[in-house]
Amino acid sequence: MEYSKEVEGKRVHDNFNKSVAAATAVSKCMWVPYPVIIGAGPSGLATAACLKQRGIPSLILERENCIASLWQLKTYDRLRLHLPKQFCQLPFMPFPDSFPTYPTKKQFMAYLESYRVQFGIEPVFNTTVVSAEFDRRCGFWRVKTSGLKQEETEYVSRFLVVATGENAEEVMPKIDGMDDFGGPILHSSAYKSGRLFRGKNVLVVGCGNSGMEVSLDLCNCDARPSLAIRGSVHVLPHEMLGRSTFGLCMWLLKWFPVHLVDRLLLFMCHFTLGDTEKLGLRRPKIGPLELKSRSGKTPVLDVGTLAKIRSGNIKVYPGIKRITYHATEFVDGTKENFDAIILATGYKSNVPQWLKDEDLFSEKDGMPREPFPNGWKGECGLYAVGFTKRGLLGASFDAKKIAEDIALLWKAY
Ligand SMILES: Cc1cc2nc3c(=O)[nH]c(=O)nc-3n(C[C@H](O)[C@H](O)[C@H](O)COP(=O)(O)OP(=O)(O)OC[C@H]3O[C@@H](n4cnc5c(N)ncnc54)[C@H](O)[C@@H]3O)c2cc1C
Repeated sequence: MEYSKEVEGKRVHDNFNKSVAAATAVSKCMWVPYPVIIGAGPSGLATAACLKQRGIPSLILERENCIASLWQLKTYDRLRLHLPKQFCQLPFMPFPDSFPTYPTKKQFMAYLESYRVQFGIEPVFNTTVVSAEFDRRCGFWRVKTSGLKQEETEYVSRFLVVATGENAEEVMPKIDGMDDFGGPILHSSAYKSGRLFRGKNVLVVGCGNSGMEVSLDLCNCDARPSLAIRGSVHVLPHEMLGRSTFGLCMWLLKWFPVHLVDRLLLFMCHFTLGDTEKLGLRRPKIGPLELKSRSGKTPVLDVGTLAKIRSGNIKVYPGIKRITYHATEFVDGTKENFDAIILATGYKSNVPQWLKDEDLFSEKDGMPREPFPNGWKGECGLYAVGFTKRGLLGASFDAKKIAEDIALLWKAY
C-alpha cells in the first residue's frame, strides 16, 4: 500500500477532523501521528526500539503501572529465564556479559529497564485498551482506553501494533465443588514463594513449566506438594551434553528434520531421566518439537522437580474429579486432604475481548490465524508482535519485520 504524500497529507487532516467529531462519546480524543503499540511487555518494547532505530516514534499504551507487568507482577520469586540468555535478548542490545546464562527475574527486569532507557521509551501507564476498531470512513484505527478513574480516551492512529501477549489473562478451570473448598485456591500468577505454605499440603494443578517449578519451590520451602496431571507431558532435561537442551535442539534442527531430532531427544531423555511414565508423567505420542510446532505446547525443562518426584517428596495424581471442603477426589478414585490449591493452568490472549478485526486474529483463541512466521501482519496497518509461541526469540523476529514494514509506508506517509 503506497501513498502520495500531498494527497495523503490533506486526507490525514480532513479525516482527523472527522474522527474528532465522531469521537464525542469519549471524553478525550488524541491524534497520534505515529504507530500506537498496545502493551509494554518485551514485545512492545522491542517494536518501539526497532521503530526508533528507523527514526519512527511510537506510543505505547499499557494497562499496568510498569513495563513487563507479566514478569514484575505475575511471576514467582525463584523464576529465571528458562532459555539461555542469547535466545532471549531483544534487538540491538545483548544481555551484559556479567549476567549468568539463565538470568534471574530481577536481572531480566533490570535488562528491560535499561532497554527502555536506552531507546527513550516512555509508555503511557494505567491505560487499558477496551476497544480498537478500524474506521473505514477515515482510514484510521480508533483505540479506546480506560484509565485508573475510568476516564475514557480515544487514540486515533494510522498504525496499530498489538503486543498484549499470549499470556494476557489467567485460565481458571471450573472444577466440580471448587466453591466449597475450605482453603485458598489461587492461580500460579498470584504465587510468589513457598514460604507462605510451610508445613501445608498443597495441590498444584497442571504440569507445565510453572506447575513443575512451583511444586519444586514448595518442596524446597518445607511444604508438602502434590501435582495433579490430567494429560500427557514431555519433560526434557534443562541441559544435555553440557549444553542447554534448547540450544542443542536449535543446532540439531539446522542439520536434521524435526522427527529425527525428536527421536534423538527422546532417546537421550530416556538415558538421562529414565522412564518418566513410571513417575506418572505420560509422554504424548508426538515428539516434543513436532508437538510444539503443531500445537504450541511447550515441553517442560526439568529444573529438579523430577528428582523430588522420584524421592517421593512430590506426589503425582491424575486429573481431578471433584473438590470438597478439605479434600480432592481424583479420577482414579483416590482422595487426599489439602490445605491449599494452586492452579498452574496457564494463560490466554485477551485480543478477542477488545479488537474488532476478522482478519489477523482468530476469535477462538486470540492468536493470529496464520502460524509463524506469517502471523505478524494484518490489513489496514494492523500488526501482531509476540504471538508466535516462540517466546522472546519470536517476539524479536516480529518486531524487526513490523518496523521494516512500517518504515516502507512511513516514507510515503
Ligand atoms: C513464568 C513464565 C516464564 C517464561 N519464561 C520465558 C523464557 O525464559 N524465555 C522466553 O523466551 N519466554 C518466556 N516466557 C514467555 C513470555 O510470555 C515471554 O517471555 C514474554 O513475556 C512475552 O512478552 P510479550 O510482551 O509478548 O507479552 P507480555 O510480557 O505478557 O506483555 C504484554 C503486556 O501487555 C499488557 N496488556 C495486556 N492487555 C492489555 C490491554 N487491553 N491494554 C493495555 N495493555 C495490555 C500487559 O499488561 C503486559 O504488560 C515465560 C512466560 C511465563 C509466564
